Amino acid sequence: MAATAAPATMFEKIWRTHVVVDRPDGYTLLYVDRHLIHDGSYFAFQRLKGRGLKLRRPDLSFGTPDHYMPTDTRRKEDIANPDSKRMVTGLAINGAETGVTVFDIGDRRNGIVHVVGPEQGITQPGITLVCGDSHTSTHGAMGCLAFGIGQSEVMHVMATQCVWQKKPKTMRVDIDGALGFGVTGKDVILAIIAKIGAAGGTGHVLEYAGSGIRALSMEGRLTICNMSIEAGGRAGMIAPDDATYEYLAGKPYAPKGADWDTAMARWKALPTDSGATFDTEITLSGPSIAPMVTFGTSPEDAVPVTDAVPDPSTAADAVKREGLAQALRYMGVKPGTPITDIRIDRVFIGSCTNSRIEDLRAAAAVAKGRKAVVPSWIVPGSGIIKEQAEAEGLDKIFKDAGFEWRETGCSMCLGTNGEIGRPEERIASTSNRNFVGRQGKGVRTHLVSPAMAAAAAVTGHFADVRKLMA
Ligand code: SF4
Repeated sequence: MAATAAPATMFEKIWRTHVVVDRPDGYTLLYVDRHLIHDGSYFAFQRLKGRGLKLRRPDLSFGTPDHYMPTDTRRKEDIANPDSKRMVTGLAINGAETGVTVFDIGDRRNGIVHVVGPEQGITQPGITLVCGDSHTSTHGAMGCLAFGIGQSEVMHVMATQCVWQKKPKTMRVDIDGALGFGVTGKDVILAIIAKIGAAGGTGHVLEYAGSGIRALSMEGRLTICNMSIEAGGRAGMIAPDDATYEYLAGKPYAPKGADWDTAMARWKALPTDSGATFDTEITLSGPSIAPMVTFGTSPEDAVPVTDAVPDPSTAADAVKREGLAQALRYMGVKPGTPITDIRIDRVFIGSCTNSRIEDLRAAAAVAKGRKAVVPSWIVPGSGIIKEQAEAEGLDKIFKDAGFEWRETGCSMCLGTNGEIGRPEERIASTSNRNFVGRQGKGVRTHLVSPAMAAAAAVTGHFADVRKLMA
């Protein structure tokens, strides 16, 4: 009798079909199915050229300038910073020289690299995907193994289409039960990180599962996987299902016809087998998750909007007490302050975490018929999302409500394009990092969902979006 294969996790299934060679020191050479490139990869192209090497598989590499392009213009000649201009213009030039497809500025397909991949159908279940950006974990929402790599690894992938990796452990995060009204993927991931801590997933690939995840749209799933890295995870993933296949069908780079049928047979075998074990398992109750707001300088510093800023004296140990006290000093918030009493100076709705069409719809539903009382930006994740939003009249809703409707790009998520806040400015942001100085020197970043950001924009302080939408 033939031996039955042991139950395997989705991660294990993808990993073992991509192993080129295992090294005795514990490193594995993995084959890379897709390589995404952005304007920050300029120097990797230079180094490749400098060593006289060619791109091994330009047909599996796709580029889009996003980090360095300002979002008030689509003209590269308007980029004031000469280094930024070189990075942005360099990508199209490098793409033309090497045969890499580049969705350049002015192309409607241009956008943030982690929005463009799934949107174009480049990201598919079962593949390995890498990019020189830590939020590459986003793509795992499509049922693939996707992780960020450093710039020297970018060059290695360009030259070999392979990457050396140490095999991570696995963690299953179960969201048990449907989410409540006004609660989104962003709130789920902030609740997870608040529970396990910013280092809770270190050395693991996180697989999100359970009825709370299955009920989410692809946009919500992409948001959750995007922030896996903020929990210390190497990658995040969600098993493909009908929502994945519906999202992918008809996308430009998705398989077509008979190839689609063949791919479907493969994809349907990907989900974790019953009986497969994870190194770590945690469960959160879906219905008990509320809209979340961060109060400190780590994504783990998150509480429900109905709570107050915690008192550092209640922290578990002296190191945590001092860290939290320092974070509150930087953020200019006092222990015990109700979250809804925190006034804000500015709103940023965008980034690879929350700039997709569902995010813009959620923000517009709150903004409709109201007025922003602080400067508020909407930065769509791609030209296609911008077009779609305009076709649905969302831009008009935002403009009528006094929001600024901008071009696509990373923008204030990181500010490498020059779009940053002022020292001590308090920003309600839909991005993924609230680190010290992330949005500019001295800037105070609070992470929220798009609907919560819009609620803050129209009230001038954090507000429970469920009350505004009731
Ligand atoms: S939006 Fe922010 S996190 Fe995402 S790719 Fe751009 S800079 Fe990185």
